Amino acid sequence: MNNVISPFIHVREMNDSVILFHSLDVKTFSVPRDLWERLREANYAPSDSISQSAIDALIDRGVLVDKSFNRSRYLDSKKKSIQKRPQYKYLYLISETSCNFSCKYCVYDGEIKRSSAGGARRMSDEVAKKAVLQFDEVSNADRVQGRYIVYYGGEPLLNFPLIKTMCDFVESERLNFKTTIMTNGSLINEDMIETFDKYRVHLAFSIDGNQIHHDGMRVDNSLNPTFNKVVSNFKRISSLGIPVSVSCTLHANNYRELPYIIDYFHNELNVRNLGFNIVHGKHGKELYVEDVTQCIVKCFHKLIEYKMYEGRLMERVKSFANSSFFLRNCASYGRKYVVDPDGRVGPCHAFAGDSNCFDNNVDQSAQEILNSTTLAAWNYRSVLDVEECLSCPAIGLCGGGCAYNSFRESGTIFAKDSGICKYANTILEWLLQEARENIFKEVIGGDSR
Ligand code: SF4
Ligand code: SF4
Repeated sequence: MNNVISPFIHVREMNDSVILFHSLDVKTFSVPRDLWERLREANYAPSDSISQSAIDALIDRGVLVDKSFNRSRYLDSKKKSIQKRPQYKYLYLISETSCNFSCKYCVYDGEIKRSSAGGARRMSDEVAKKAVLQFDEVSNADRVQGRYIVYYGGEPLLNFPLIKTMCDFVESERLNFKTTIMTNGSLINEDMIETFDKYRVHLAFSIDGNQIHHDGMRVDNSLNPTFNKVVSNFKRISSLGIPVSVSCTLHANNYRELPYIIDYFHNELNVRNLGFNIVHGKHGKELYVEDVTQCIVKCFHKLIEYKMYEGRLMERVKSFANSSFFLRNCASYGRKYVVDPDGRVGPCHAFAGDSNCFDNNVDQSAQEILNSTTLAAWNYRSVLDVEECLSCPAIGLCGGGCAYNSFRESGTIFAKDSGICKYANTILEWLLQEARENIFKEVIGGDSR
């Protein structure tokens, strides 16, 4: 057998050991440096100084492969083992396209804004009810557990009467959906609180840190600061035990102060669930993504200490620790679909208003949604089909990034999203360092001569 190193092995030499990372199996192995040097000298074959068992261990783990290794066949089998058909868990309803805020980094300037140029669009009760009943059938077809209706905008609470009607409707129809509202948090009143409390509605507030961080970017349509109102609403809602989380956008003005932001969220707002968004698209800078990600990983231990769950980072840490390929960075890849105010159905809110992408509708049968070629194409969009991604060490951790970013960069969703490359590779290098320090790794070569 003529052994070579698998094309999916990435080598990191670190002092006295060598970390071997299998990018598709998401596995790390550690080999003593002297053994690694002897292996290289012996062309990865047994020799006077290399035992057959050490070679066998490396073959078993996919570190060494035969020269005739068939990469395409291997990729096909990998795809078959990890790609699943769509299973819709989330229904996003764009209940309202306008917003009472004018955040300086707002990325919500895609097709929906262009298509709303003649005025804001608001979803009717009729469209929402059709959407929910259709989604019930779609998700029931796969017996999906834990189903969510997510209200999105614009600012969805500008159309609160719809949300209230739909909460009552879901209850009266015994539909067993949880409700989430992605809100800027400024419009909440007592009537709303009563509904949120009654139906255990989860509110995801956008808060960018303390007053200085937040007000520097998140202003209302008259350019007034918004922090005091939003935080007071957050505290009131949270004190009633209504489920809350925070979505924090990291931008040029706040990311360097991330440790203080996390302290603030923990000490003042008692936040448990949060998500960091990195400003992307035309408003972001590629280099800056790497800097922001460095700041995020440096705060990992603080997040653990505070028992705060940051989904994007933790999902990747779990994948790395469990050696599972992180296939989907975004629920739009086979886990959610979106309904726009006119009842059109598509995979991602950023494409709402684009009739090529929103080519289904709420009047269709559940089976037609399940057979949708557009939704299926998004489900199977994968970095495993992008040639330049195959040599990337972080292919098993990136999740494909954002298809909307890919589209903006390359005119197709089936291309890489360069923002996620910096994010995923920065996280991988950090995880490999952590692995070196003792966790997640398997030592090979303990029995070598
Ligand atoms: S594809 Fe991008 S813009 Fe669309 S939902 Fe996913 S992350 Fe958001
Ligand atoms: S999108 Fe970027 S991070 Fe993901 S696999 Fe491709 S090159 Fe790597």
